[in-house]
Amino acid sequence: MENSREPLQPHCLVLSYPSQGHINPMLQFSKRLLHKGVKVTLVTTRSMSKTLHGSSSCTSVALEAISDGFDDGGIGAAGSPEAYIERFWKVGPDTLGELIKRLISSGPPPTCIVYDSFLPWALDVARNFDLVGAAFFTMSCAVNSVFYHCQKGWLEVPVKKQVLLPGVPPLEPQDMPSLVCDVGTYPAFTGMLVNQFSNLDKVDWVLCNTVYELDPEVADWFMKILPFRTVGPTIPSTYLDNRLEQDNEYGFSIFQPEHDTTMRWLSTKPKGSVVYVSFGSMAELKIDQMHELAMGLKRSNCYFLWVVRSSEAEKLPQGFANGTETSQKGLIVTWCPQLEVLAHDALGLFVTHSGWNSTLEAVSLGVPMLAIPQWTDQATNAKYIMDVWKMGLRPLVDEERGVVTSEEIENCIRKVMERETRKKIRENAGKWRKITKEAVGEGGSSDRNIEEFVAKLVAKP
Ligand code: UDP
Repeated sequence: MENSREPLQPHCLVLSYPSQGHINPMLQFSKRLLHKGVKVTLVTTRSMSKTLHGSSSCTSVALEAISDGFDDGGIGAAGSPEAYIERFWKVGPDTLGELIKRLISSGPPPTCIVYDSFLPWALDVARNFDLVGAAFFTMSCAVNSVFYHCQKGWLEVPVKKQVLLPGVPPLEPQDMPSLVCDVGTYPAFTGMLVNQFSNLDKVDWVLCNTVYELDPEVADWFMKILPFRTVGPTIPSTYLDNRLEQDNEYGFSIFQPEHDTTMRWLSTKPKGSVVYVSFGSMAELKIDQMHELAMGLKRSNCYFLWVVRSSEAEKLPQGFANGTETSQKGLIVTWCPQLEVLAHDALGLFVTHSGWNSTLEAVSLGVPMLAIPQWTDQATNAKYIMDVWKMGLRPLVDEERGVVTSEEIENCIRKVMERETRKKIRENAGKWRKITKEAVGEGGSSDRNIEEFVAKLVAKP
């Protein structure tokens, strides 16, 4: 009899939206839970699980898949984001329910679903099975605040003038998530982002992949209205500790990284001398912007490592061929092991689209940034990089051409790599690196929050 009173080992299903920028943080969060004694099963879609590289190296976290209705191609096979979201929302809950039933019968039964906030229907599934429900937010506090205000009807969209939100610096339209300014461009995505907050009155936890100290006033504001906790950055501690034996299990990758070529090239470059350029897994640059960027890099005369995905390669100007050293100065690869690159001594600057993962990774590793946001939350992240954390610059867009010119790129690179500005930006980058590392270290803000979450899971009868 006494045995039956012993608490079950908590078993979390961690359900990720199927994209690179979501699977990475959710896998890493899974690993943190695992280290705290929780059994974890990472759940993604069937189509996504087929395309993941490196999954065989991920031995510690169990992997399962549900259906999004497009098992052989995911969003690419759907024809439009609207069609994808509509079908996923119909098919996903049932297949998640079937998975839970199967896991209950094979044991140990799931006790909690940590679900990507993009998939709010997972909370209803959690409730049907009497599981703890925790929403996991993969964007910053400020961006979440913007969408929260939209969902409540407190923010008029499309946004056309300066916006003041509690704890957030004044945001001009160009600092806002693009989807609340150009509301007509991707209505399905805008709806998905706003709906993240649709049923949170029923949720047990709201976990956010950020660091409390990066945005304390907004985090405090959220904590007053929701069971909100900061749990980031979801980066392996080997990188934060600068132990470069590295974690082969960093993450799943949709694209195959050119690991050896990249790291061999970097190892020949002097300390702090390389400009690393990447626009993440989704952004598509205008051809004009690609050319300006190429010329800006060339004019800066710095070493550069540039990630140009295969689908973007044809936009490269002559002389910047993919997969070759473009001159004495540059290397272009189709994908790289970004964390290893950012942690490398040779790095001096990260030219980024300021996606939230890339931003958080650079903050955590103390790398100054040049933020050239493209869409969604990136402009708000760029605002924080330049004006709040003061660890980078945001080059000005030439309004007439709608691009950042090569002169502006050259000038900003030089400011961070060579001039007076360099010292202050580097000092700030070092400061944020320390703060971030402490947050996930024992007793730090994120570590305490994860401990609290796990303790409550263990205590649940
Ligand atoms: N990334 C990578 N190799 C690359 C470029 C990016 O591993 O060559 C990873 C990067 O470390 C980050 C993710 O891809 O974790 C991109 O996420 P982010 O939120 O920055 O941008 P998104 O791809 O969602 O636009």
